Parts: sequence; structure tokens; C-alpha cells
Amino acid sequence: MKVYISADMEGISGIVSWEQVTDSHPEYARSVILMVREVNAAIDGALLGGTDEILVNDSHASMRNLPIEELNPRASLLSGNTKPLSMVQGVESGFDLAFFLGYHGAVGSNQAICDHSYSSSSVFSVSLNGQAMSETGINAALCGFYGVPVALVSGDEATVAQARVLLTDVETVAAKRAVGRFAAICRHPLLVREEIRQKARRAVEEAVRFRPYCLTPPIKLEIVFSQSSKADFAELLPGSQRLDGRRLFFQGENMPETFRALQAFLLLTRATN
Ligand SMILES: [Zn+2]
Repeated sequence: MKVYISADMEGISGIVSWEQVTDSHPEYARSVILMVREVNAAIDGALLGGTDEILVNDSHASMRNLPIEELNPRASLLSGNTKPLSMVQGVESGFDLAFFLGYHGAVGSNQAICDHSYSSSSVFSVSLNGQAMSETGINAALCGFYGVPVALVSGDEATVAQARVLLTDVETVAAKRAVGRFAAICRHPLLVREEIRQKARRAVEEAVRFRPYCLTPPIKLEIVFSQSSKADFAELLPGSQRLDGRRLFFQGENMPETFRALQAFLLLTRATN
């Protein structure tokens, strides 16, 4: 049994602000410890359930957050950026299950800590095949292309509610209840970790019940940028279609191709404000 873990940061218990997930801020050092302990809880649970191989993909910002010396040595760590599949790089090599830890709500979610979708500065909304998507949805569709079901999602209540609507059968752990974009009632990390441990174990023990989340090709991406200047740069990508001032369309043959376009759009938007 092989388990893949994509670990983000905004959905970890105790984290409620951009400052806490920004490496130049003094609070960041505490955040990475909170993060690695939730990841270790999932690793513990997966091992108890019978997993023999675990890959953890650091999936936040620089993707160099998790201190490897604090990580359970039974897991390997994929650290750094840029990666073609970004938050789910490595899943293409073949896994039985995927866990998404510390995830956050889609851009525009109500009462969701640090809600955004891949870029907090550039993306107003993103949809695939006409359906509004969170990072959970986009990454689940990538995993699904490679035949890997998402079995566990943790984050705030908005995040796990979105995951349940999209994935239907998925174990979830709500680490906090947001009362705004930058405030939440947080459960104690010890309780969150224990629930992650239990649900990771159950997910592995009941692995056969989970189904990959697959979108039907071709995969149509529609992205609305925060400003028209972002779309001016993004439309330089061949194959993109400008729909209006802030809106672009791209159609790919499959999920990885469309995701590459999304990543290229976001890199291009960094050239302007
Ligand atoms: Zn993040």
C-alpha cells in the first residue's frame, strides 16, 4: 500500500493569517512545527493501517516548509519548486490513496481561512468543465487522472465541506471553524492530530471504498483574473482564448495538459500587477 500526502499550510490548526504562513515573518517558525506534526499524525495513521510507502509533497508557497529532520523517517519528502504537477507532483508515479492536509477553501468562500485558488493575488475564480473549483478539486482531478483517489482531506470547516460535496466519499478532519478570512475558532492541535491519525488509519484499512475523482476530457479551463492586466500577460500562452477583460479560456486534451496551462498562466501573471 502506497500513500501520497500533499501538505499545505493554511488549513493547519492554529493558523489564521498570511503572516503565519510567510517565511519572512517571525510567527512562521511555529507554523512549520504545527504543520509537520499534523503530517506526522497522518503518516502514523497510514502506517498503523498497513501502508508501507509514503511520499509527502510539500505544497505551500516555496514548497520548502517542512523541516525534514522533524518528519517521521518512514516517509520520503518531496521538497522545493517548480514542479510540473505542483501540489500533487509525484502522484503520477502510482499510489493507492492520496491525502490532502492543511488545505484551504476556494477563492471567494465565505468564512474560510486565507481562501484562495493557487494565487491569492491573481485569481478571482477558476472552473474546470464549467464547475467552480478549489485547489482540492483541481488536485483531486489530477490525482484522478492517474487513478489515485483522495481519501482524506483536512482544513477548516469550509474546506472539508467543499471536499465532501465534490468527492462524496472522503474522510475529513475539520481543524477549525473560520469566523472570517483571518479569524477562526481552532481545535487544539493535539485533538486534531489524533483525529487525523484515526482517519488516516481508517482510510488505509478501507482503501477499496474510495474512487478516483475524474473529469471527462477534453478539460476546459475558464479563469477570471483579479485585473485585466493579468489576463494581458496570461493570454500570451498559445492556445489561450480571451473571453473578456479578465477572463481566459483554455482547452486541453487531458487534466495534466490543462493544468500545465493553468500553471503557465499564473507564472505569466507574475510579470505584472
Ligand atoms: Zn498554501
